[in-house]
Amino acid sequence: MIYLDYAATTPVDQRVLDAMMPYFRENYGNPSSVHRLGQKAESALDAAREKVAAVLHCRPDEIIFTSCGTEADNLALRGAAMARRNATGEKWILTAKTEHHAVSKTAEQLEKEYGFLLEWLDINEHGAVTPESLTKAICSDTALASLMLANNEIGTINPIADLAKVAKANNILFHTDAVQAAAYLDVNVETLGVDLMSLGGHKFYGPKGVGTLYVRKGTKLIPHMTGGGQEYSLRAGTQNVPYIVGFAEALRLAAEEREARTAHVKPLRDHIIGNLLEAVPDSKLTGHPENRLPNHASFVFKDVDGNLLLQMLDSAGFACSSGSACKTGNPEPSEVITALGYSRDWALGSLRITLGVNTTAEHIDSFLKTLPSLIEKARALNQR
Ligand SMILES: *Cc1c(COP(=O)(O)O)cnc(C)c1O
Repeated sequence: MIYLDYAATTPVDQRVLDAMMPYFRENYGNPSSVHRLGQKAESALDAAREKVAAVLHCRPDEIIFTSCGTEADNLALRGAAMARRNATGEKWILTAKTEHHAVSKTAEQLEKEYGFLLEWLDINEHGAVTPESLTKAICSDTALASLMLANNEIGTINPIADLAKVAKANNILFHTDAVQAAAYLDVNVETLGVDLMSLGGHKFYGPKGVGTLYVRKGTKLIPHMTGGGQEYSLRAGTQNVPYIVGFAEALRLAAEEREARTAHVKPLRDHIIGNLLEAVPDSKLTGHPENRLPNHASFVFKDVDGNLLLQMLDSAGFACSSGSACKTGNPEPSEVITALGYSRDWALGSLRITLGVNTTAEHIDSFLKTLPSLIEKARALNQR
């Protein structure tokens, strides 16, 4: 199997796994316990927090460990929206149709069940939100905006520093989902200028089931897990020490090796894009042509059933992904691809190819040899 789905998840780095192992069976203490075993776990937790803070250029007490990227998004949106409304009465939440469901579904729930007002910001042809479209939407009753650093489906990078400046000038809170971005982009919260930022470990060779929310000092959140007061009382529950240790080491390595990892995937990615657009008629790149994640190639193919194409690729030995959330019998194009304005005959045929540390030039050559004929087959089946 050739794995070309690193945006979905990544294998755990051996060095990360090695760092985690002692915290399962030797140093298994509860970081809240007073005895030495507890203190050992607490030191590991403190060290992990400092490691993460060093990459983010923030204070350790601005780091909240969560159970995943999704939880970080939930805590950011729900926590900030509630706290802000309590303090000021402000009710508007601004976000975009291109966001991950962890953000968009949370925003929709806040609207439907909790009385907030929700506005979807305009996106440009590449799926980015411009500072102008954010400026236009802000009113005196706006509580917060949430816009992702890089898009998981189409790879487009949002101008977060500029967007956060607009938010700051208008005195609204700004959250960014950097879960997909952190593997390749700088996540320095000072240069980004954000109040809240979500990360998830398994997108950068860390374990699944652990994430982080950065919370700028002074930003009020309503806790969404109440209990024993862990994580500065914002996210109660005994910390998952081995996973947090793994998360921190994976993030440190991602920052340290960012340039080398980018230099490895980018030419391979560019080869895929150049070759596919030439070799496959009625094909288009989705997302921004340059300002996109360096490991990310995404396409739409006219009159192709994206799910069928994925199955064919799987049979041929390639693990890829489509933007489409379609189920057999009820195909629905992805909301992100639809938001870009593609008609249904294009939007249903989406394909995402994402590369990583184990990807080789041979993998890509073999993929490029296989794909055009599979698309032809899928198109022929689509005619019937
Ligand atoms: C993967 C992903 C998430 C969800 O993270 P989990 O850790 O899997 O919960 C959220 N946002 C984006 C952009 C992602 O790519």
